[in-house]
Amino acid sequence: MIEIKDIRERSLAISRYADASISSGGLTTSIVAVTTNVERGGQPVIGYGFSSIGRFAQSGLIRERFARRLLAAEPLSFSSEDATNIDPMLAWNVMMAGEKPGGHGERCVAVGTLDMALWDAAAKIADRPLYAFIRKTLDCAAVSEPQVTVYASGGYRYPSDDIARLIDEVDRVRGLGYTRMKIKIGAVSLFEDARRIQGAASALGSPDLLAVDAMNAYDRQTALKAAGALRSTGCWWFEDVTDPLDFETWAEIARIFPYRIAAGESLFSAAEAELLARYSGLRPERDILLFDPVHTYGLPGYLAIIDRLQARGWRKRAWWPHGGHLFALHVAAALELAGSEMNPFSFQPFGGVADDMKITDGSVTLPTRPGIGFEYKSRLHDQFLTLDERCIIT
Ligand code: MG
Repeated sequence: MIEIKDIRERSLAISRYADASISSGGLTTSIVAVTTNVERGGQPVIGYGFSSIGRFAQSGLIRERFARRLLAAEPLSFSSEDATNIDPMLAWNVMMAGEKPGGHGERCVAVGTLDMALWDAAAKIADRPLYAFIRKTLDCAAVSEPQVTVYASGGYRYPSDDIARLIDEVDRVRGLGYTRMKIKIGAVSLFEDARRIQGAASALGSPDLLAVDAMNAYDRQTALKAAGALRSTGCWWFEDVTDPLDFETWAEIARIFPYRIAAGESLFSAAEAELLARYSGLRPERDILLFDPVHTYGLPGYLAIIDRLQARGWRKRAWWPHGGHLFALHVAAALELAGSEMNPFSFQPFGGVADDMKITDGSVTLPTRPGIGFEYKSRLHDQFLTLDERCIIT
């Protein structure tokens, strides 16, 4: 009979910059480990997870509610039919027991953090890479070593020598084998951002290889002005233009902006996704959906959002999951989405692929080893190994 022996958690500081000495607003993430009673090679199978990036650690919610429900549950309530493995879909029901609809706050991130570790553990016990385990869970045909299109994310504003350092970052991204990149705008004037866009686009070779992300910073007036200014740049997409819930302004933008708009990374539930589809004016045949498969209550929540939006005409080619890490990459591979964000320099050691995975001409092949593969990203694995007895949730 499968059992969860213990769950561990701690929060860690992470930086948007490769140079972690540059201040990054005190951003943190939770790392968790779910230890099972299954052994491989004399060692217990442990699933690892973290809170994706951009939404802070969730220690309180994980410790007080969601991990406790898993620890208190009868193993049969979250086990596979033959009781030899965790069924992450059933474990999700255990975590969400008693939670009311709405009020996502950041509980969606806490649940997603544990969900990642549960999928990692279950895939390892099944001796399959996560993408293959997800496909089997969803009764999809097997694929071997899938190739996923990726783009590099980064391009945060540097406190000094911004343009020169941005161009150096683009060059290093290209050196890793990426062909497309996304940079941040919205922290400075539109005039200054136009210079950043121009610099990054010419270093990439073409503006249509460059996406720009305003991180939901613009109010209505600035958003409309920025959309007008960006019309002439020919960028790949314009992301997180205004407040995630200001669908009226999104709809105004969609009316005047003829290129791709990207949205969804700051929406967390199927109900919010439905509102986006109904009222934001986004165009299913053209626009991009960025929902984060961790922040949307984990993979079960992400799948519910896909179902809901597919019914409204959104096809797989619109989906580029937010996160920039190995879990999001496996999800993109399993569900045959358009591609995945990758953070080769930001949010280390969480961002980017494993040490031995190479990006070639903007895409990457996933290896066949079991689980997510955090063990093959040595600096990240070292962080998970710091989850000692003091981190056990009681
Ligand atoms: Mg964004």
